[in-house]
Amino acid sequence: MTWLITGGAGYIGAHVVRAMTEAGERAVVYDDLSTGIAERVPDGVPLVVGSTLDAERVARALADHAVTGVVHLAAKKQVGESVDLPLHYYRENVEGLRVLLEQVTGAGAPGAPGVSSFVFSSSAAVYGMPDVELVTEETPCVPMSPYGETKLAGEWLVRATGRATGLATASLRYFNVAGAATPHLADTGVFNLIPMVFEKLTEKAPPRIFGDDYATPDGTCVRDYIHVLDLADAHVATARALRSSPGRDLTLNVGRGEGVSVREMIDHINAVTGYDRPPTVTPRRPGDPSRVVASADRITAELGWNAKHDIQDMITSAWEGWVRLHPEAARG
Ligand code: UDP
Repeated sequence: MTWLITGGAGYIGAHVVRAMTEAGERAVVYDDLSTGIAERVPDGVPLVVGSTLDAERVARALADHAVTGVVHLAAKKQVGESVDLPLHYYRENVEGLRVLLEQVTGAGAPGAPGVSSFVFSSSAAVYGMPDVELVTEETPCVPMSPYGETKLAGEWLVRATGRATGLATASLRYFNVAGAATPHLADTGVFNLIPMVFEKLTEKAPPRIFGDDYATPDGTCVRDYIHVLDLADAHVATARALRSSPGRDLTLNVGRGEGVSVREMIDHINAVTGYDRPPTVTPRRPGDPSRVVASADRITAELGWNAKHDIQDMITSAWEGWVRLHPEAARG
């Protein structure tokens, strides 16, 4: 099969491209390079620069490369920004997906596209503030931000299109993604806990804990961190499962099922980086759920997938990527 990987020049997308090609699948990257980086696309993998809102360009990419499957990761993903720019998020994440599905299923253009499988990048943000120990795929979805809403609406669109057309579909709900395959592929954004702590350490400032009065064992928020290499492998397993089962419709958490608190993460980061800077506690960040930890039972049962990498691997590889871009950080 040939897989069109939208957002394949992004942090997670580039890891998916790498895993798919290493597994022997043909990949074509489709990315508008708004946040993606062309150098992340490996030699030998075609890069089509375009937005999924551009129906003609999507149609041409599907036809030119005889695409038979799509992994759709292209999206805006900053929760805070989505609160300020909801229309932008709905346009990029929902309308962009709708246009893509229209082309993929041939609903928008004559001809018979040969796409049979569609993997959608969703998020644990669809759950909002789950009040459960382990979040299963049956836990009610009550997103707390426009970002989370666009991901949930995206799942609905994908599933409804699958039902109507026979397209095999899957929505992968990512938990907290971290780490890198190589320093070159590391996340360059500073929007999540690990890079935000790296940034503070680099500035010789204390890392911040956003609230330590939550109802959790040490009072700080608990999350389920997943190595981007494991997440990429989950995409390969999903893509293969869809290929062998036309009409299949999967919704799967991708997490490790292990809760780690913010304070524990900062301790791990101090140990890996050699900095030993005690954190400072600031007020809660609005909208943060106290605990979001996946049950990964379904993805293991459906695909035989299991995470292989631990927190140490995530922080070590993320730090190598950080030091590549911020060499001054290595000097402690
Ligand atoms: N967090 C923190 N200090 C920071 C950055 C994040 O205490 O400098 C906390 C944040 O409040 C949340 C957790 O770390 O409880 C994970 O945040 P992140 O933004 O990485 O992911 P989220 O789960 O919020 O999507």
